[in-house]
Amino acid sequence: MIDVESIRRDFPILGREVYGKPLVYLDNAATTQKPQCVIDSISDAYRNVNANVHRGVHFLSLEATDMMEAAREKVRQFIGAGSKEEVIFTRGTTESMNLLASSFSRAFIKEGDEVIISGMEHHSNIVPWQLQAERYGFSLKVIPVTDRGELDMEAFSALISARTRLVSITHVSNVLGTVNPVSEIIRIAHSHGIPVAIDGAQGVPHITVNVQSLDADFYAFSGHKIYGPTGIGVLYGRKELLSKMPPYQGGGEMIKKVTFQGTTYNELPYKFEAGTPDYIGSIALAKALDYVSSIGMDIIADYEKSLCDYALERLAAIPGMRFIGSAPERSGVISFLVGDIHPSDMGTLLDRLGIAVRTGHHCAEPLMDRLGIPGTVRASFSFYNTKQEIDALSAGIERVKSMF
Ligand code: PLP
Repeated sequence: MIDVESIRRDFPILGREVYGKPLVYLDNAATTQKPQCVIDSISDAYRNVNANVHRGVHFLSLEATDMMEAAREKVRQFIGAGSKEEVIFTRGTTESMNLLASSFSRAFIKEGDEVIISGMEHHSNIVPWQLQAERYGFSLKVIPVTDRGELDMEAFSALISARTRLVSITHVSNVLGTVNPVSEIIRIAHSHGIPVAIDGAQGVPHITVNVQSLDADFYAFSGHKIYGPTGIGVLYGRKELLSKMPPYQGGGEMIKKVTFQGTTYNELPYKFEAGTPDYIGSIALAKALDYVSSIGMDIIADYEKSLCDYALERLAAIPGMRFIGSAPERSGVISFLVGDIHPSDMGTLLDRLGIAVRTGHHCAEPLMDRLGIPGTVRASFSFYNTKQEIDALSAGIERVKSMF
């Protein structure tokens, strides 16, 4: 069981008022708030151990390096990776997907090949592939999305061809909340010898993830969506594949030896971590993972599901309410439209009542085109949200409706 009142005390920002009203923060899919222990770990690290990592022989540098590598081990355990070499620190999911698209394409994709993505991807799992497709002459195949907001699995199987080199799919849709059947997708792709990458930006914060039981080849996520700082993220990759992929960026740290005649690259994972890494971010991310682990990911998932079910029930009672996405397997996100109220009007007016939701296309424009809408209002939940906040959202929507 979650003691939500005690949890809320761990997050100083949740005590804030906006426009003289208590903050109701329902924009957790965009970024989550930070518990005091994460905030403290950032200032403690700057106060006590700050020094550049991996290259110093002095005490502080060695200590900072140990802490960063301990953070890598923490991430490894958290996502169930087989080894630390498979955990690459990046700036976030976007950088993880760009690294993957760039290095994987260069190593494994030729003109005329195909990469499968889906119609519910965030732009960060579309555009990096388009950039590489232009460069290498491969094409993108898109799994269609059904009216309920699920992937059309028959169409997926039909898209697989002898030229398919990778399937890259979101774990959880940031618009529809749909939890995709990633195990099934991986099983099908692997039966054709095709590796699978998962965009876990909305997965890892809400669902227990074990990349080995999933049998995922790549898995990306962002620290700031799982109560850690901004500017830090992870790309997990299977060692056999990562070791065949060229570096993404060049610079310090990713090399073994540099001469003007040529350069040899460092071992994994450093080959993919050029320049001074955000070691403070890694340390604080590890603290965030400790924090959610101390609550328990399964307990978090159960609580968030109960919040989501409650919200669906409450909001469904509002006349004119139209949910966007009705997949039975869903996680912490509800998208909706009310009557013909424009989503940005709804978002702005809710804001004046102290309620923070996201509006717009949510970086998923092709999905908006598929659904034939300009955007949605999105409420997204965390384990620190309460049923009272959902009541406030429901009352807020009714109030906005009455203004139109
Ligand atoms: N993928 C999904 C499904 C997302 O929801 C997001 C962010 O909202 C991203 C990728 C990009 O994450 P970031 O901006 O942290 O790189």
